[in-house]
This record gives sequence, C-alpha cells and structure tokens, in this order.
Amino acid sequence: MKVVVINSGSSSVKYEVFESSDLSVLSSGSLERIGESESQHTHRIYGPSGTVNETVRRGRVDNHEEGFRFILSTPVDSPVIKSSEELLGIGHRVVHGGEAFREPVLIDEKVIETIRELIPLAPLHNPANLLGIEAARRVFPGVPQVAVFDTAFHQAMPPHAFIYALPYSFYALHRVRRYGFHGTSHLWVAKKAAAHLEKPLTSLNLITLHLGNGASAAAVREGRSVDTSMGMTPLEGFVMGTRSGDLDPAVPFYLRRATGMPEGDLEALLNKGSGLKGICGANDMREILQMVSRGEPLAQLALELYCYRIKKYIGAYFAVLGRVDAVVFTGGIGENAALIRKQCCQGLEALGITVDDTKNEKAYEEVLEIQRDGAPVKVLAARTNEEREIAEQTLAALLPCSGPRRVREGAP
Ligand code: ADP
Repeated sequence: MKVVVINSGSSSVKYEVFESSDLSVLSSGSLERIGESESQHTHRIYGPSGTVNETVRRGRVDNHEEGFRFILSTPVDSPVIKSSEELLGIGHRVVHGGEAFREPVLIDEKVIETIRELIPLAPLHNPANLLGIEAARRVFPGVPQVAVFDTAFHQAMPPHAFIYALPYSFYALHRVRRYGFHGTSHLWVAKKAAAHLEKPLTSLNLITLHLGNGASAAAVREGRSVDTSMGMTPLEGFVMGTRSGDLDPAVPFYLRRATGMPEGDLEALLNKGSGLKGICGANDMREILQMVSRGEPLAQLALELYCYRIKKYIGAYFAVLGRVDAVVFTGGIGENAALIRKQCCQGLEALGITVDDTKNEKAYEEVLEIQRDGAPVKVLAARTNEEREIAEQTLAALLPCSGPRRVREGAP
C-alpha cells in the first residue's frame, strides 16, 4: 500500500509517494503553473539502487482536480498510482490550523469547514491547501485523507509565550496570538537530533533553527515546543529571504504616513520586498554568499544582520529553556551553509555553544555534529524531511486505535 503526501499551492501541487510499510520514497513530483496556458508536470521515480528517473510533461490544466487527473495519467512506464485501491491514505500539508488543531486530523466536512474558517489567519495558504484537499477528495473518493498542520507542533506553547500584549479582548475575540509555523520541520529535526544523541526526545531541551526561504526558531523542552519565532503569521522573527522579520510595529504606520503607500503595498513590501532581498537585492543565500565573496558591502550587511538576529534568538531561547542539550540547524541554509552556522554561534562560547571549523565543513547524510570537542552543548546540522514527517503523521492518524483528533474545543 502507498501513502501520498500532497503540498498544494494556489497554482501548483507537489507530491511524494511513500511505500507505507517502511516509508521509503517511491516517487515524487510537482505540477506547476496550474491555470496558465501550459502547465508542467515533473515526475521522479526512485529506483532501489538510488537511481532517479525523471520525466517532464506539459499540457493544459485548468484547476487542481484536472491537475490530479493529469498527474495520474502519467504514462504507464512511470505510473504515479495505478488505482485508488493501492492508497492507504493521503496526507495534506495545511499551513494554519489555528487553535482548532494540535494534531493531525482525519479530514471530513467539519474539518474542511474549520480550515476554511481559518482563512483570515492564512489568506495566502489555507485557500490553496483547501483546493488540493477538495480536489483530492473528488479524484480519490473513499481514500482516507489527513490534514497535517504547520502550526500544530507549537500548540503546546504556554500562554505567556503566545499571547501578544494587546488588549486581551483581541485574543479572546479575534484569536490574535502567536501560532508559529514550520512545525513539521522542527519536530522532524528534534526527533532526528534525539535519535542521533541516543536519548529520548522527552529528555532533551533543544533550540531548532529552520533556515530556508522562510525561517524560524523553536525552543523545544522535552519534546514540546514552548516558544517559536514566527507569530500570528510567518512574518515575525528572523530576517528571511524576502520577509522583514521582527520590526517595530510602528514602522508600517510611519511608512504609510511618510510615503502614502496603500496598506496592501505595505503588506507586500514586508512579506515580499524586505529581508535579505530588501537589503542587498538578492534573497537566495547562495547568491548572497557569492556577492559577499565579491566584496559587495550590502550583501555583507545582509549576511551579518541575518546571523546576528539568529544569534539573538539562540540567546533568548537559551534563557527560555534554562538548559540546552543541542542547537539544531536545518532548512536549505541551515543544512548547507557552514559559514552561516559558524557565524550564528560566534560569541556564544560562554553559553557552551561552539563550532569546530573542520567538523562544520564535513559532508554528511542526515545529521552532522559540529561543536568543539568537550563542549557542553551539541551543535548539529540535520536534514529536514517535512514530507516524511507528514507521511508518518498521516499513518499515525489512520491507525484506528490512535483515534484521530478532531476539533479542539475552546482555548486556554
Ligand atoms: P524553502 O523554504 O523554499 O523550502 P529551502 O529550505 O530549500 O527553502 O532553502 C532555500 C535556501 O537555502 C535558499 O536561500 C538557498 O540559497 C539556500 N541554500 C541551499 N543550498 C545552499 C548552500 N549550499 N549554501 C548556502 N545556501 C544554500
């Protein structure tokens, strides 16, 4: 039997097909530019000896339902899925679960309605996720489908970590609070760190740093997220590729008055035109590192600001946790950019956080340990695998005895 993980965007669908018995990846792919004059489907099949066979097809696909049918019609020598019968379940990544979902949930009409009600909190993501869910339910009727939420892992945060100091009624009436995102990634690397350290996750305190295009930190106490840097939306926290991260909340009001910029443009500026891109014109870290090596001062500034903010959060979360067993870097930047790992930890020796240059530069498969010999805090780079985490959570939610959780009543 197979488990399929689907990550649905407004004009794209990404998927990964797992063998349910051992969660090995059988195939993966993406359909891009849904709704445009020509869509592109890329499909990869993973052979037992590590071979990857990629096929690309183009065609007109008007919506997500047509998209799934297009994907399924991949030629028979490289089938995605032969029939619905071989599907044990489908796991959907859903960005915002609000306070309603703290665990993966079997999708039914009520769940769909609740995800819809959460659209004001995630207007860009939840509608796109719903398109994928609704289309998949039509194309694969009878196959159990599970929603796995980016916010769920952080629902364990205590109120003093998630409440903003606004009048309390804004939380009570409008659910304005910190939710946090990247939960599946933080959880996955926390589990990987525990396995690597050969300790139960419930015995460890970790600072996990997901550094991709979006970026966030989590303070993980005994396996539970007790604080995280992203907020009600993914805009808060670190400097990101195109997001400003933490900012004096008065800045947008000032800019509005000073420039007359409309509210929508300001929102786009903070989400899409700020961060690394806003400072040096590039948002891809590889490009920025090349600019730095050419001596471009704004790229240097962007890099310093980026690492400085991360360092501040490491210090803050050290204070939150009291004792830290490991700092874990992940995401495209955290996994691959040794220079950034080093720079984020520079000056933290007094906290026991150090980086050994030789270890830091080593190639690795899943987890790399990079602290200096004898240092009290482990520093790790760990490869994230959100799809695999979603597949695991989907399977767990499908197990009848685990009793999929549905909507949680009320809030603390
Ligand atoms: P997403 O959030 O879209 O999943 P990723 O986790 O793939 O993003 O991270 C993308 C970021 O990782 C980009 O800024 C990219 O430049 C950076 N990155 C990938 N590989 C490297 C590398 N070898 N060195 C530095 N940065 C890298």
